[in-house]
Amino acid sequence: MHPWLSRLKWRYRSPPHPLLPLGDPRLRAPAAQVPDNARPCTAGTIRSLADALHWFQARHGAARGIAAPQIGIPFRIILVERDGEEVPLINPVITWTSPESRFGWERCMSFPHLAVCVPRPVSLSVTFLTAESTRDTWEHVGPDLSSVVRHEVDHLDGVLTLDRAEAWEMVVPWTRLVAEPNRFHPHPREASAGSPQEPETHSGRS
Ligand SMILES: [Zn+2]
Repeated sequence: MHPWLSRLKWRYRSPPHPLLPLGDPRLRAPAAQVPDNARPCTAGTIRSLADALHWFQARHGAARGIAAPQIGIPFRIILVERDGEEVPLINPVITWTSPESRFGWERCMSFPHLAVCVPRPVSLSVTFLTAESTRDTWEHVGPDLSSVVRHEVDHLDGVLTLDRAEAWEMVVPWTRLVAEPNRFHPHPREASAGSPQEPETHSGRS
């Protein structure tokens, strides 16, 4: 199907799997490891995550990752975009994070009306199982992918961007950030330094 038709299809249908909204206690529950004997069943979850991601992208715009708990599946599975490809990470473990971090605006599919400025490591390494149950590792990924992976793995631990905001001034309506991007520096406390960052979305871009 042509990408444009696919986007239109998702835009006008109901969400395939309801995204749990902020306040749902299931977003706060740590997700369980996917057991060995359940791995053959992960294909359905991965498909559901992709469907929900496509629906959100068609309805709300950019999104680069999603975690299984966001659609009510309490297992450690995330789906992230890397180099234009959607990649599932099963039982992901962050094995290294850079000492340096940077602030960026993130949007979460569970509360897409808010933008939250959070610090993220500029790089990290993550090991995980693929959909084929082989082990893979991404070493020292760049800052964009690092922030997406960190955002989604946070979901697996019941942590949301709002928990990482250091002050309420780091939470603004998403529409306001998009309308006035020059007004909001990635780190409000450093507003006089550097140049504004383009709004980014995670599971928002996640
Ligand atoms: Zn999120």
